[in-house]
Amino acid sequence: MKDTKYIFVTGGVTSSLGKGIIAASLGKLLQARGFKVTNQKLDPYINVDPGTLNPYEHGECYVTVDGHEADLDLGHYERFLGVETHKANNVTTGRIYQNVINKERRGDYLGKTVQIIPHITDEIKRNIKSLGSKGEFDFVITEIGGTVGDIESLPYIESVRQLRWEMGKNCLIIHLTYVPYLAAAKELKTKPTQHSVKALQEQGVQADILVLRTEHNISSEMRKKVALFCNVDASAVLQSIDVPTIYRVPLNMQDEKLDEVVLTKMGFDLSKTPKADMTKWTEFVEKLENAREEVHIGLVGKYVQLPDAYKSIIESLNHASAYNNRKLILDLILSDKLSEENVEKKLGKLDGVVVAPGFGQRGIDGKFVALKYTREHNIPSLGICMGMQTMTIEFARNVLGYADANSTEIDPNTTHNVVDIMEEQKNILDLGGSMRLGAYKCKLKKGTKVFEIYKKENISERHRHRYEFNNAFKSDFEKAGMVFSGMNEESNLVEIMELKSHKWYIGVQFHPEYSSTVSNPHPLFVNFIKAAILK
Ligand code: GLN
Repeated sequence: MKDTKYIFVTGGVTSSLGKGIIAASLGKLLQARGFKVTNQKLDPYINVDPGTLNPYEHGECYVTVDGHEADLDLGHYERFLGVETHKANNVTTGRIYQNVINKERRGDYLGKTVQIIPHITDEIKRNIKSLGSKGEFDFVITEIGGTVGDIESLPYIESVRQLRWEMGKNCLIIHLTYVPYLAAAKELKTKPTQHSVKALQEQGVQADILVLRTEHNISSEMRKKVALFCNVDASAVLQSIDVPTIYRVPLNMQDEKLDEVVLTKMGFDLSKTPKADMTKWTEFVEKLENAREEVHIGLVGKYVQLPDAYKSIIESLNHASAYNNRKLILDLILSDKLSEENVEKKLGKLDGVVVAPGFGQRGIDGKFVALKYTREHNIPSLGICMGMQTMTIEFARNVLGYADANSTEIDPNTTHNVVDIMEEQKNILDLGGSMRLGAYKCKLKKGTKVFEIYKKENISERHRHRYEFNNAFKSDFEKAGMVFSGMNEESNLVEIMELKSHKWYIGVQFHPEYSSTVSNPHPLFVNFIKAAILK
């Protein structure tokens, strides 16, 4: 069995420094040297999982194949490493406490007083070590959410301290900080970094490697100074300079020798491990950065003020545009503001439109307006989840002539409930819940657009929704030219619909955006962009 190594990524000074990207970049570099790597995220909030969090507060909710509603950083891990994550890759304080309280109620603690140390910290450590316990991975890279010094993250940092003490060289701590540039003084300032490293030391943790986020190059003198003040080798003080695309970060971190410093500190002989082969990755980044011809895509949704709410969709469009040698010009369109009066102005010049997922009533009318327009004007359109459901309702209203067609989620009293909760789905809903979550099989119909796109019959895609296409209306739709090109056969549920007479009008009940990666861009997005640029 392998001796799994554990690497922790903590952050200081401010939030939003990109710990997830640094953790994913390190994962990529180690993977590109031939190691097996997995990334984990520990979130200090008390929600048991991010499923109930408003996307405006926390960005998108990412969904793993095994149906876990997860932090969006897991999306970065999958996009960078090209390997699937699971429920165990994301743990929140809420879940840690829930587990400990369940054990207490069962009497597992045999009358002991249950405390943060050792019970909560033991549960945290168990969740970290369980990823490495099967011997599948050479490295488990665990990102600790939040900022050092927060009350919420104390038990996590304490757990890191204990693991470091227990594991010695098999454990390493990378601390990400921020070096601000004071324009008036024309100087980079390292004091916040020093304070942040001290805050970590006060909790008994000494960082092994410092990664300094900066907008300007940090000189070697300054790195030496930071090293001296922070008890870190000068060679282990690295910079992460601002870049136009997050996909540059692994290449920059390779230039900074992050992987080499990590391996050396963990006792590897560098001459015995091949250098990270980043050729394919570099090709992708160059395509992304060098594309000159544009593709103009509109993303119609109700959370567009916070682009993080649509992180995976935006990244999927980035991958697909790069592979089509196009520069993505993305127009985020608030569906609440779309109307018959302004739709021509807002969508008329676009090459393609994505109608976003979403829950509930708000912004729905704008989605109908957008879809009627793109359907009638032959503009390539991709409807995702609620996007497919709105395609269904718009088609029923304006093509089939059912004026009151609706989803029962929006209008429980409609007589044409073309989107509804189906009897058929009852046997496959997640335990106790009411949502179809995680990966489900889908069979594609030969001779359809999606069959041509996926080039195979059986696919599997991730879901996160309650409502489904109502099969009672299937033949009405078919007679009017809608093709049900993807079905979940086990439960007879519609997964994909496409409009025969249209250039590219496809609705999917699942979320293809969760599985687009740099090495495997999602075929639906790639083909959507291809159709969008086809004159
Ligand atoms: N509101 C829809 C449902 O629950 C779609 C959800 C989504 O778009 N993720 O079925």
